[in-house]
Amino acid sequence: MDKPLTKPKASKESLILLIAIISAIVLGFILGGFFPSIGIKLEIFGQIFLNILMLLVVPIVVLSMIVGISRIQNLSQLGTLGSKTLAYYLITTAVAASIGIVLVNLIQPGINQTISVNELPNQTEFITTDISTALRELLVGNPEKEQQGLIGYNLFLAMEKMDILPLILFSIFFGAALSSLGKKAKKSIQILSVMNDAILKLVHWVMYLAPIGILGLVAARIAHSGGFKAFIPELLSLGLYALTVLLGLALHGFLFLSLLLRILGKRSISTYLKGMGTALLNAFSTASSTATLPLTLQGVHEENKVSEKISNFVLPLGATINMDGTALYEAVAAIFIAQLYGIELTWIQQIIVILTATLAAIGAAGIPEAGLVTMVIVLRAVNLPIEGIGLLLSIDWLLDRFRTSINVWGDSVGAAVVEKWDAEKPPKNKEI
Ligand code: ASP
Repeated sequence: MDKPLTKPKASKESLILLIAIISAIVLGFILGGFFPSIGIKLEIFGQIFLNILMLLVVPIVVLSMIVGISRIQNLSQLGTLGSKTLAYYLITTAVAASIGIVLVNLIQPGINQTISVNELPNQTEFITTDISTALRELLVGNPEKEQQGLIGYNLFLAMEKMDILPLILFSIFFGAALSSLGKKAKKSIQILSVMNDAILKLVHWVMYLAPIGILGLVAARIAHSGGFKAFIPELLSLGLYALTVLLGLALHGFLFLSLLLRILGKRSISTYLKGMGTALLNAFSTASSTATLPLTLQGVHEENKVSEKISNFVLPLGATINMDGTALYEAVAAIFIAQLYGIELTWIQQIIVILTATLAAIGAAGIPEAGLVTMVIVLRAVNLPIEGIGLLLSIDWLLDRFRTSINVWGDSVGAAVVEKWDAEKPPKNKEI
């Protein structure tokens, strides 16, 4: 049952798909940038594609987690696997935030800049958060928003509202309970496993829609920001800040995470990257780790042959709490705001920024621009003006796409690294 669904010839197929998706992104930028009215008309294709992906998220989280955990025969292994995964997530996220801090201090994009502050839209979204509220929300949710935390109270509401954390926790325990039943549960596990395979098959089919869906998403998004005529001046005015974020993301993704993949995960970087291509481009196009999860699982398990047990556990959790790109961006953004307002932060305050950016990234949902909202935690912790967020709004949708790709890359590398740490027998067809 643990066999990948992809046949060997799929590699050529995924290469063609990859080229089609890259062309769709380029075409989307051109159409949306130069002909915004056409870009907006294409939005429907993007919406259809996104809806289908989102439709698959809940079944994929629940089934893959239950099936993955139920494969763990000795339940004490679950604790070890869980702690290794969490350790990887925490360390890499904190490293990402630290890279951001170093770069923003070196480049100083906010010094000698004069930028007018935009109005903060939807102020209420930004009001709630300080560290203790954020931790509380992470644990038990926010009843006022009918939003559940890790320990939820209603599974169906969690599915309806796509609160992934309580679904994950329930599925972990349900899978563990199934595994503890031994022989008696064998048939049920098999049925769930076949259902999981069927969902992965659906993901495989949905991928054929990716080029047209992605064309729609990209064209409409750039069209909504007024096309190139309106957007490029905005981008230029925040150019150095954007460059700092992008440079940090590139260093973290291509250097740090890739080295981890090579050294700890013992994988070929280029092969792994190729296998993850569709998922990464989809992350760029949707700006959502959650919506990308079906494709991330596909890339890690089917293309890169990380075992079902590991990928089913590490990835759904990662899509929800492991956000390296978000942490890096929040750290850069906070210091950038301090520089703009002429506020000097001590090194202790900068360490607080690293810690709170890590926490804020864990708390951010895998949806577009969630990081912008949880950044309030960071700003509050070191007394920076929250209105500063208004400065970043105009180009955040673009930076969000890059950081989401790094979030997904971080999860995928995590699966390879944790697999090695877990000292599982390496799959036969792994390329090194
Ligand atoms: N859009 C990001 C994600 O889905 C979260 C964020 O940084 O806004 O991973």
